[in-house]
Amino acid sequence: MEPVTVIGAGLAGSECAVQLARRGIPVRLCEMKPLRRSPAHRMDGPAELVCSNSFRSDSPETPIGILHAELRRLGSVILGEADRCRVPAGEALAVDRDRFSAGVDRALGAAPGLLRVVGEVEALPSGDVVIATGPLTSEALTGALSRWTGDKLYFYDSIAPIVAADSVDETIAFRASRWGRGDGADYLNLPLDEAGYRAFVREVVAAEKVVPHAFEEPRYFEGCLPIEVMAERGEETLAHGPMKPVGLVDPRTGRRPYAVVQLRQEDVGGTAYNLVGFQTRLTWPEQRRVFRTLPGLQSAEFLRMGQIHRNTFIDAPRLLGPDLSLQAEPRVWFTGQISGVEGYVESAASGYLVALAVAARRQGRAFLPPPGETALGALYHHVTGAAHPPGTEYQPSNVTFGLFPPLPGRVPKSGRREAHAARARASLSQWIEFSETSSSPSSGPAAWTGTSGIVDPAAVAR
Ligand SMILES: Cc1cc2nc3c(=O)[nH]c(=O)nc-3n(C[C@H](O)[C@H](O)[C@H](O)COP(=O)(O)OP(=O)(O)OC[C@H]3O[C@@H](n4cnc5c(N)ncnc54)[C@H](O)[C@@H]3O)c2cc1C
Repeated sequence: MEPVTVIGAGLAGSECAVQLARRGIPVRLCEMKPLRRSPAHRMDGPAELVCSNSFRSDSPETPIGILHAELRRLGSVILGEADRCRVPAGEALAVDRDRFSAGVDRALGAAPGLLRVVGEVEALPSGDVVIATGPLTSEALTGALSRWTGDKLYFYDSIAPIVAADSVDETIAFRASRWGRGDGADYLNLPLDEAGYRAFVREVVAAEKVVPHAFEEPRYFEGCLPIEVMAERGEETLAHGPMKPVGLVDPRTGRRPYAVVQLRQEDVGGTAYNLVGFQTRLTWPEQRRVFRTLPGLQSAEFLRMGQIHRNTFIDAPRLLGPDLSLQAEPRVWFTGQISGVEGYVESAASGYLVALAVAARRQGRAFLPPPGETALGALYHHVTGAAHPPGTEYQPSNVTFGLFPPLPGRVPKSGRREAHAARARASLSQWIEFSETSSSPSSGPAAWTGTSGIVDPAAVAR
């Protein structure tokens, strides 16, 4: 059997490659690191977390927590390794990024029929191809893909700085998680009073920023705005965003501070902390100057500075068919952030879905997408456009309850999260059961009553 070429061993590509291999499909996984790197990638290994080390909330009643649970249940390699490399972070699932990448590396090495090729792919290879090259797809390949994806778009993501743990003044910082969640002391918090907060906002607004290239109009992802953009929106914006003090009491004063900066542990050893939500395009000297005005960071040693980067994604609802392959070239699938999902976990989930779609085509079976009531199905409906009103401009998205179909009947607000979670669990069970019992759904789909429909391979134009 001809191998499927997966380009990019990031979150999506690694998940996709392992899942294909586990289904008996030979895979050629091409990765340009360490020969070439994007501006954000630094490590040599696969599945690199380029910014935060957090997979966000692990609470089973949040959309991302539901996605975690679904991926665990389905045997995701990315979630499995994340669980193995977990570091304390309250109710968030945060990982030691080096151990995590090493674990994914071992899983790739152990996958049957998976060949790893080092080098930048500059032109579309022949045969079945999965594009998993992420938000920083290399220029040559972007150029080659533009023949089919004329609607590719650019905007910026920004990465947050990391400081050495022993350079934080712990006579000022206090340990606590919001509302005492997790073990209650996972974050270091830097408390600011009102005058200190306002002075900090003024410094951020006035500081020198990196100027984007003329051809790269900044289009920020709303969930990952640089702090200076938030500060420019209004004096209180940061105090209601990443610097919000809710659920935190400074033990030295017994009061809630006016604002806080939260520092989250980066590594198992606890030697480094990142400034949560402090993505920025301030110049590096200005970051050192301005962030050292924060209480507790006066002597901070910066291990990584905040940076800005391009994000590349395609207009998936317009370009992709229902089995996530290019309508104009159905031997080509897109997965991960380049397909317009946003986030590490969403990218892994997307890699899992595309592996199912490719495997179904290869094995002559129908592709049965997960129902929209599940987090996986909600993401699938986002990428195919079904989760959005017709004509909506396509923008990358995390998994949110907004992508799920509304709950039936009147559910009180206090019970909606739980109802979503319970419905997702039940729906996933049905889908798994149906997928396992139906050997040829394309010939007998009548029993399937989920909301995702069935994609018959014969219906996908070749
Ligand atoms: C600066 C920045 C900060 C971010 N911060 C966060 C965050 O804090 N939290 C979060 O959840 N998400 C964050 N994201 C989004 C994050 O990139 C995605 O969530 C996730 O990494 C995307 O997974 P992916 O597999 O699609 O791409 P990636 O993980 O980027 O993997 C793509 C892989 O393809 C390789 N590649 C690229 N071009 C080629 C080529 N031509 N040939 C061969 N290999 C190639 C790359 O080297 C890379 O290994 C950030 C993105 C950026 C750019």
